Amino acid sequence: MIDTHCHVHDKQFDGDRDAVVARARDAGVTAMITIGEDVADSRRAIAIAEPYEISVAVGIHPHEAKNASPDAVAELRALLDAPGVIAIGETGLDYYYDHSPREAQAAVLRTQIRLAREVGLPVVFHHRDAFADFCAILREEWRDEMRGVVHCFTGTAAQARTFIGEFDLYLGIGGVLTFPNASGLREAVVEAGPGKLVLETDCPYLAPVPMRGKRNEPSFVAHTAAKLGELLGMAQDDLIAATDENAKTLFDL
Ligand SMILES: [Zn+2]
Ligand SMILES: [Zn+2]
Repeated sequence: MIDTHCHVHDKQFDGDRDAVVARARDAGVTAMITIGEDVADSRRAIAIAEPYEISVAVGIHPHEAKNASPDAVAELRALLDAPGVIAIGETGLDYYYDHSPREAQAAVLRTQIRLAREVGLPVVFHHRDAFADFCAILREEWRDEMRGVVHCFTGTAAQARTFIGEFDLYLGIGGVLTFPNASGLREAVVEAGPGKLVLETDCPYLAPVPMRGKRNEPSFVAHTAAKLGELLGMAQDDLIAATDENAKTLFDL
């Protein structure tokens, strides 16, 4: 299994990161991508991930957009040659929390898409409650040859159709899939089928059932994989092979 979106460099893992990574490998997690949330956090991700040979995405989260300097893209660009860096993100729009002004979120999103376009790296998108504006920006900035994922996808079947059908994006499926109240998401995932789905934890957040409420960690991706296989009527081995293949294509692993 590949955990395509974690924050294993987060300080919540500082006390026991060796054990967390060991448990992930014991559970069959063959690759992890730890995701930066601003320039400093991306630098920290690179430094912490390197000895574990964990891959890294560097980017500016919409929550942090208000703090991004005018040189932020140059600062991100300077990180792209660092060991393990394979993607740009996470970047996007979050109108649920609105921690940054929407104009700032949009501006930082556009510059990161343009950077990815220029350097040919995939993009990790964070999207919440901003579907129309997010698609409007993609229609202007996205190009057919680009690769990307809408991480922690929790939307409707219609949104899944747009992300996959119009933009050829992958959908990152995490612990929310296992939550009792996520029937809409489960329907969307069944309709989408396995062709564009990848697994993720978003740890330390959003632990899947039966670990809900605990600190999430990459080994828990197995619970989401089990639920996804059950929903899609696939044997675990087949589900894992399919989502691994998608992740390898998406991130060129
Ligand atoms: Zn996110
Ligand atoms: Zn994240």
